[in-house]
Formats: sequence, C-alpha cells, structure tokens
Amino acid sequence: MLTDYHLHLRPDDVRASADEHFSAANVERYLAVAEERGIAELGCAEHIYRFAQALEVWGHPLWREFAHDDIDAYVAFVREQTDLRLGIEADFIVGREDRIATLLQARDWDFVVGSVHFVGEHAIDHEGFEVWDHRSRRPDELWKRYFSTLGEAARCGLFDILAHPDLIKYWGSTRRQPEGDLRRFYELAMDGIAESRIAIEVSTAGLRKPAGELYPAAAFLEMCLDAGCPVALSSDAHAPGDVGRDYDAALEMLDRLGVGELAVFEHRERRLEPIG
Ligand SMILES: [Zn+2]
Ligand SMILES: [Zn+2]
Repeated sequence: MLTDYHLHLRPDDVRASADEHFSAANVERYLAVAEERGIAELGCAEHIYRFAQALEVWGHPLWREFAHDDIDAYVAFVREQTDLRLGIEADFIVGREDRIATLLQARDWDFVVGSVHFVGEHAIDHEGFEVWDHRSRRPDELWKRYFSTLGEAARCGLFDILAHPDLIKYWGSTRRQPEGDLRRFYELAMDGIAESRIAIEVSTAGLRKPAGELYPAAAFLEMCLDAGCPVALSSDAHAPGDVGRDYDAALEMLDRLGVGELAVFEHRERRLEPIG
C-alpha cells in the first residue's frame, strides 16, 4: 500500500487561514487525488509554527508572523471531521527540546514529523531569514552544521519521521553547494539516526523546488537503510494536486535500493506494510 504522510491542508502563505482550509470539503479534494493515484493512507502534518502554542517553544520573528491558530482546534478537526491520520510537522530547535516535548506530549498524534528548517536563527528554505546571506562563502561549514543538527533531531527521540533529510540542498545551483562526495556530510547525522532507528522520509517535494531532486539523495538513504531505518513516503503537498505527486520517481528509487515496505503509524505505534 502507498501512503502520503506529510500533507499540509493549506499553502505556506500566511494569509491561508485555518477557517478556510481545515474543512471537510477541502479534505475531500485531497482524498479525491489520493484515490486517483492509488494512495491508501493519508496523514496531515501541519506546521507547528502556524499555531499560537508554538511561541511557547520559540519566539523567532518568522514564527511570530505565522503563529495564529489554535493547535487543539486543529487536532479536534482532524479527529472529529476526517479519516486522516493526525500528525504535525514539528521543527527541531536546538536547546528547546523540553519545550517541544511538552507541546507534543499533551496531544494524541498518530505521528510526529521532525524537521530541521533552521541552522541557528537562519532559515534554510525561507527567503527573508536566509542562512545563505550570512554564510554563502562557506557552504561546507553550513552543510556540516545542518547534518549535525539533523542527527541531533533524530537522536532526541521526539519524532517518528525525519522529514526531507537533505533539505539543505533546497536551492540547488542557485546557492553555493559543496563539491565532491557528499557522504562526508551525511556521515555527521548517521550516529543519531542509527541510534534512534527513526523512519526516514522519502519526499517528492524536492522535485518541485530549485533542487529538482528527491529528498533525500539515494546515497543518504542507503546509509540510513544500512543503519536499519524504515522509510516513510510523502509528497509534502500544500495543495490537493500535489498529493502523491511524482511517486513514480520515489518508487523507482525505493525499488532500486531494495525497499519493499513503508512505515505506517497509529497513535505513534509504527508498523511496516508492503508497498505491493
Ligand atoms: Zn518542512
Ligand atoms: Zn511540510
């Protein structure tokens, strides 16, 4: 069976309101595309920083701009008005692990997607707070810091799925990239990943971004598979048309690497289901 465990019910635009998008009619649109594309199980994972409660974790100016909605209203909507698995995309913020834990543990999620979107105060994939303005001369240093942080995110045990694991390549050739074999960076995340056996997200979102590649690169995924991690498959759709988008490319990579099962989640219990 196929899954899509990282869906957003609205675009990242700050004007995209919860009222407008957390509705049975909107969910129907996602379900219709999933059915067309043969995806049996859907989970939504709204960004934690769209909820006012996230400001108890971190007061970054980007979060202050976006954090308006009530997280418990979101939980109630998904549980009471949809058949979606209930997830959340929670940022890993270094030094805020206890606060993230408090926020997450108070709710009954099916799964928690953990993301590294920031290096220090600077955003990887968001213009305006860009990390690249400050460190563009030293891509190697930035990549090292990113993958070390990713390893910490896996190790901290707060998350079930490690999202878009090589997001640092987001801007592709429009930003400076390190040269040569990238496994020297991936290696920095692997101790944390191996210890946690967290599910590794294979996401087709990178194909829609300047990177133009799946997240993660095959070499990264191979290292995670060697460490014994299962795979979670996602599109990171922010609109119905992107549900399960480009899954052919993802399935081709999984097949090539000998992955025959996908992780599925219920009340934070993980099991594996054959892709079929
Ligand atoms: Zn993300
Ligand atoms: Zn996302």
